[in-house]
Amino acid sequence: MKKRDYYEVLGIGRDATTDEIKKAYRKLALKYHPDKNPGDREAEEKFKESTEAYEVLRDQEKRARYDQFGHSGMGGAGAGGGGYGGFSGGIDLGEALRAFMRDFGGGGFGGFEDLFGGSERSRRGGMRTPGRGNNLQIRLKLTLKEIARETSKVIKVKRMVSCPSCDGSGAKKGSRDKVCPACQGTGEIRHASRSLFGQFVNITTCSTCRGEGKIITDPCPKCGGEGRIKGTSSVEVKIPAGVSTGNYLSLNGQGDVGPRRSRPGDLIIVIEELEDELFERHEFDILCDLPVSFSQLALGDKVEVPTLEGKVKLTIPPGTHSHKIFRLKGKGIPRLHSHGRGDQLVRLIAWTPQKLSPEEKAVFQELDSKIKTKPPACGKHIYSS
Ligand SMILES: [Zn+2]
Ligand SMILES: [Zn+2]
Repeated sequence: MKKRDYYEVLGIGRDATTDEIKKAYRKLALKYHPDKNPGDREAEEKFKESTEAYEVLRDQEKRARYDQFGHSGMGGAGAGGGGYGGFSGGIDLGEALRAFMRDFGGGGFGGFEDLFGGSERSRRGGMRTPGRGNNLQIRLKLTLKEIARETSKVIKVKRMVSCPSCDGSGAKKGSRDKVCPACQGTGEIRHASRSLFGQFVNITTCSTCRGEGKIITDPCPKCGGEGRIKGTSSVEVKIPAGVSTGNYLSLNGQGDVGPRRSRPGDLIIVIEELEDELFERHEFDILCDLPVSFSQLALGDKVEVPTLEGKVKLTIPPGTHSHKIFRLKGKGIPRLHSHGRGDQLVRLIAWTPQKLSPEEKAVFQELDSKIKTKPPACGKHIYSS
């Protein structure tokens, strides 16, 4: 497949400023983000493509190199350039998601990478990378109560695990590997080519041994020489308080193990917040309605209000309007990557009985005849709190 021009991918001119590049990328990334297009391969490709373009053009040095040499200046012709320097083999989804999170936080989640060392891999450029396990993506559902505090979860993950028979080597026990005759064990094939700009040395991964430098003569019968089999493993994840739907956690090396002990993929955990029965979340604040009687509003009262951590007392002053909002400081959700917590907002609603007994009806009629103050006239924003 022919690679599209990076400027064309982002839909910008060749003289675009860093700011314009960032804006154009952000727009595309939000549109094609896998979280918005689950299972849509085309969107995923577009997400990767725009991220790749962004990663090159945002970097002064890489951009200059790209402007001068085009895609051929961005690393070897084959796979295996490694790192962000050479996208010749294409950026993978894990790298793309991390790049997006790094600059746009995926909803304020950016710091996770550092927490889990997820950004390490992308800096490990220039390494020979024979094979690689796939990145896996898992959805993790959390209740609001779980989100309100740091949570530990053990998740069962279906993934490729190291073959126990051959210990991941792919070779039958007792058999010997042969040094690859095509690359003499280096795993790389080098060839020089001339072009308008001078001589290039292209380094490509050896296709005979797939970059491994050796050839298995007697494959392990259990895994057929792959060095890995299908399995299930438990992964413990720590989720900091304050996350929300769409936030990602990237667990380095916890995806599929690679063939024959090559590097494993990552496990990407996507947070999904379950709807709470009681509270509505607004960023780090939580909201609830508390129905009270007209007498409680008129005379004042002390009531109990549920919070994320047990009940608290709330004093209703006499003469409180319906729809008045009370703020319980610090009873909301902890702020992700920041200090403190949001608040809980309690809206008092005057509750009207739907059915009245004859006695109750009489009380209301008496009330109406005895109370002198009448409601104000029709208007805008009667309850201004
Ligand atoms: Zn095996
Ligand atoms: Zn080879």
